[in-house]
Amino acid sequence: MKLQEFHARQLLRASGLPVPAWSVATTPHEVGEAAVGYLAGGAERVVVKAQVLVGGRGKAGGVKLAANPEEAAAIGRAILGMEIRGIRVRRVLVAPAADIVHEYYLGAVIDRAARRILLMGSAAGGVEIEEVARTDPAAVVRVHAHPHLGLLGYQARQMAFALGLGAHLAEAVAIARGLVATMVANDADLVEVNPLAIVRERASDGTETLSLQCLDAKVTIDDSALPRHPELEAMRDLDEEDPADVEARAADLSFIKLEGTIGCMVNGAGLAMTTMDLVKRAGGAPANFLDIGGGARSDKVATAMRLILSDANVRAILVNIFGGITRGDEVARGLIEARAQQERDVPMVVRIVGTNAAEAATILEAAAFETATSLDDAAARAVAAAERAGAAA
Ligand code: GDP
Ligand code: MN
Repeated sequence: MKLQEFHARQLLRASGLPVPAWSVATTPHEVGEAAVGYLAGGAERVVVKAQVLVGGRGKAGGVKLAANPEEAAAIGRAILGMEIRGIRVRRVLVAPAADIVHEYYLGAVIDRAARRILLMGSAAGGVEIEEVARTDPAAVVRVHAHPHLGLLGYQARQMAFALGLGAHLAEAVAIARGLVATMVANDADLVEVNPLAIVRERASDGTETLSLQCLDAKVTIDDSALPRHPELEAMRDLDEEDPADVEARAADLSFIKLEGTIGCMVNGAGLAMTTMDLVKRAGGAPANFLDIGGGARSDKVATAMRLILSDANVRAILVNIFGGITRGDEVARGLIEARAQQERDVPMVVRIVGTNAAEAATILEAAAFETATSLDDAAARAVAAAERAGAAA
């Protein structure tokens, strides 16, 4: 699960990292008001940033500086109205603009091969790290954290010196270690600060100080760990998720949308994979992976059907149920219920074997469903039906 920048900033702050002040606004008026506060507090300018779960907001025009409240409100109006990579901006972050001297990159990810947290740094910040890694691989510094002890002091110093941050050693070490600690504390699989910046501050008496600040934050949480982090689950942004994914999660269905035309409804992950393979072998392409799980009742079947049909590419549906805990007759009743609610008529081939298969067959035949007993046959017929529907369309 990806977090919005303003949520990610909270996590970094909670770990003691230096993150400048910010507020969140949903209207141009609120942007202007926040700007009034920061400018009165001594900021020369404010920065207004789109809060969307995609990278490269700066390049897309989603990060802008303003020198007065009116300008801030106007920028707020422009950014709040825009779409970035297909996502409508509904919120912006407003913060005192930092006077940036230099931008660095610092990010932690899971290195599965090494089975450790990998901290990556680069003195070429502001730019995407993938870009740096491609054009100048030697410019990316890598350090693996200790699996039990986290990022050790010497490792953090190694990173700091490699980035040329010797003059800010204590700050850089605390930030590097704090980043890894944030990752562990929140079961994150990515914690990224880009830019980590050397920021110049001018006191009223004219003296200048330089400090390291986290000016952007990107955090993604391991979905499997969310049950033990209700406070993070509460940060989920449903507006930016595919509605089908939201409905699937609520109904406890494993659903992954794919590119094909054959909607698949199956119980069990292994059987779902096999079904997709057989659809492929029959010359078709699955529109989704969908595991309704063991013991699914008829309402869950109906929800699954609605999810499949919400995909306009679906031209035929293949239902493949192996009744163990799941009872065939329950699924059959669910299919009838689903068809009654269905807005779109799509050919369906149903194969139900195992527990209560005979009852299922009776129910389905009475309701004039097309049934099959062999999976090869069912897959071939679903693919043929999709081709006919495609030719007719
Ligand atoms: P991203 O494009 O989505 O990664 O958004 P960022 O928050 O990283 O902003 C993109 C760029 O805008 C940064 O690399 C900076 O160059 C610039 N920027 C962001 N915040 C500030 C700020 O407070 N002051 C100044 N001067 N520039 C900023
Ligand atoms: Mn950034």
